[in-house]
Amino acid sequence: PDMLRDLPTWTPDPVELADLELLLSGVYRPLPGFLGAFDTAMVIAGGRLSDGTPWPVPVTLTVPKDLTAHERVVLQDPEGVPLAVLTVTEAWQDPTTQGWRLAGPLEPLRAPAHGPFHRLRRRPDEIEPVEGPVLAVATREPLHRRALGQIRQVAERLGARVLVLPLLSGVHDESLVRAVLAVRRELPDGAQVVPVPLPVRPASGDRAQDATTPARDSGRDASRDGSRDAGRDAGRDGGRDAGHDDERDILLRAQVAAAYGATHLLASTEVEGTAIPVVVPEPWAFDADVEVWRPVARIAPDHVQAELTAEQLGDLLDRGEPIPDWFTPPAVAAELAVARPPKHERGLTVFFTGLSGSGKSTVARGLSDAIVERGGRTVTLLDGDVVRRLLSAGLTFSRGDRDLNIRRIGFVAAEITRHGGIAVCAPIAPYAATRAEVRRMVEAAGDFVLVHVSTPLEECERRDRKGLYAKARAGLIPEFTGVSDPYEEPADADLTLDTSKLTPDEAVARVVDLLTAGGWLRP
Ligand code: ADP
Repeated sequence: PDMLRDLPTWTPDPVELADLELLLSGVYRPLPGFLGAFDTAMVIAGGRLSDGTPWPVPVTLTVPKDLTAHERVVLQDPEGVPLAVLTVTEAWQDPTTQGWRLAGPLEPLRAPAHGPFHRLRRRPDEIEPVEGPVLAVATREPLHRRALGQIRQVAERLGARVLVLPLLSGVHDESLVRAVLAVRRELPDGAQVVPVPLPVRPASGDRAQDATTPARDSGRDASRDGSRDAGRDAGRDGGRDAGHDDERDILLRAQVAAAYGATHLLASTEVEGTAIPVVVPEPWAFDADVEVWRPVARIAPDHVQAELTAEQLGDLLDRGEPIPDWFTPPAVAAELAVARPPKHERGLTVFFTGLSGSGKSTVARGLSDAIVERGGRTVTLLDGDVVRRLLSAGLTFSRGDRDLNIRRIGFVAAEITRHGGIAVCAPIAPYAATRAEVRRMVEAAGDFVLVHVSTPLEECERRDRKGLYAKARAGLIPEFTGVSDPYEEPADADLTLDTSKLTPDEAVARVVDLLTAGGWLRP
């Protein structure tokens, strides 16, 4: 430890940090640490470590190349608190992404700072051993009336105690835990609730490639595909329906549940090779005749009430309409609404991108005026030039500084969005990767609408409102977007405006129409 301060440090990404916590707390036993190339390949190919131990998912650590030269690395949390020392036994390059990874055992320094509900968190060795069967419910969704009934039925049949493991994914975790605690009295006596950090893992074995997808998976972009895959939990951030639980996820949940002493795992489908047996509950439905949930087998067919689909539930939440009591207890419904507020109250970032002089500021200003004139919502205009005077004062126009400027705007916009406001941003934002990063930040907090102001370069240059194009052509401004630096056209714009063909008022009206149609503004 005396040498700690001489070791290089690294802050793993959120999934890796969750893995680190589970490695250190013994939940991932028998894994000693992050996996090397061979174990990773074996796990991906056949669900086993190279020594034959079944293991469902690759648990790896990605680092920048310059860290691979070290024998020991301090892993720290995002605040810079050292959590563990990794002794590097292998530095390897992922064959698909070419990203560098470190493998090796870990030496704990301190327990991770737990965040909300840390008092409920337990290491497996902190759980009182229980005689007899223990039924684990490892869930990313609040427990609605059907699930509660099924849990009671299965627990009774097995004579099991119930252990609910809310799986924390980093988005609306408090809301999930509160929703689970809210139904504690509806669970069998002695039920325990232990939150476990277990983010949804990207579909393939590599994460680097998925760098742009998690936000889109979060199902918050209703405006784009209309489906707003509310399946995972409708109140939270979308994802898979319990009926589509993928195999690896069930294998991993069984592994985690087993580590916590569970003997059975409640899940929607059976999977071969789970650490503990999976129990699939029989189908339940709401009996509209006597108004109770019960096994479908015991309901007269014409009394089976159609289930509220995830999409219908999502639509109710989006419109701010009440969630029916037959479907979920009111306390759970309230948590759903916290995690997925009605559209007209939900935080939103409207992000304009386009060439200098394309009309972003003009339209963005008009939009924020239009929104405040209508009332009922707060707006912050984060305009390129205004931002540079304070938030990004001192930054140059180099590629790196311009990117940093956009990320700062994105960070502030995400916070405004998290707090239910509307952020209107109007930077040039020429690079697709940076825009994707902003979208990701914002969508973890609320909704994101991208407006491409596509006014042709010739028109922007003809306007040359700030005389910048003339300077750029004269070589006085290096790397000027459209002249000597690329503008990467967005493929994910919700709206495209060419202000050479629209008046400013018309352009503003188009955005207002989009926001109204999307439900963010009241008609
Ligand atoms: P940007 O913020 O994209 O650099 P600005 O809004 O600052 O662009 O400048 C756009 C210039 O184009 C302004 O001088 C504006 O008056 C002019 N303009 C002409 N027609 C339009 C239009 N339909 N929409 C927006 N701006 C327009």
